[in-house]
Amino acid sequence: MATKNEPTSGLRKLLEDQLADIYYAEKQLVKALPKMVKAATNEELRAAFDGHLEETKGQVARLEQVFEAMDMPAKAKTCPAILGILQECNELMEEYADDEALDAALVDGAKKVEHYEIATYTSLCAWAERLGLDDVAGMLKENLEEEQAADEKLTSLTEEVLSETGANDEEEEEMVDADKGDRSPNTSRKGTKGSANGIAKKTTGQVSKR
Ligand code: FE
Ligand code: FE
Ligand code: FE
Ligand code: ZN
Repeated sequence: MATKNEPTSGLRKLLEDQLADIYYAEKQLVKALPKMVKAATNEELRAAFDGHLEETKGQVARLEQVFEAMDMPAKAKTCPAILGILQECNELMEEYADDEALDAALVDGAKKVEHYEIATYTSLCAWAERLGLDDVAGMLKENLEEEQAADEKLTSLTEEVLSETGANDEEEEEMVDADKGDRSPNTSRKGTKGSANGIAKKTTGQVSKR
């Protein structure tokens, strides 16, 4: 059925188009990640960025193999989305350069990058499979799985990075609950019995906090 003269299908064109997009994005990330490695203060976060930088170089090379397998020259097409995400990331890096929340900002920026990549590779894999390009789909899936692992690593570092900020959201709620106990109607002037009730109420209030 398929001959060499058959016009390229829309899906094949879409695959080629988005391959050029992600190829551009990955090459931008090879340039951007060293800045994030330098900026990160948390050792584990720095190691995660450094590890993903090496992976990203491998992803660029893998995409070049994909182009080869598809009999087309490796070409990059400007991806305004990744440029926008990286611009936001750069702005945060400058604004929070000397702030305790810098690492939290870096995790946020990096996760936005990973989610963009995951969205693209998920589509690319499905399209390549549908077009019967199994070897291409296999290579794209390797990139996809590395992005998913990178995203999960960032998620696992979220709490640790937040603990560096010294912010604590738990104390306040406890105090509000104890206060409510004090103001319950049973604590109104009813002699010793009322007072005992009041204390019981107060204790209950503390225990029942989430
Ligand atoms: Fe990547
Ligand atoms: Fe794009
Ligand atoms: Fe935004
Ligand atoms: Zn990535």
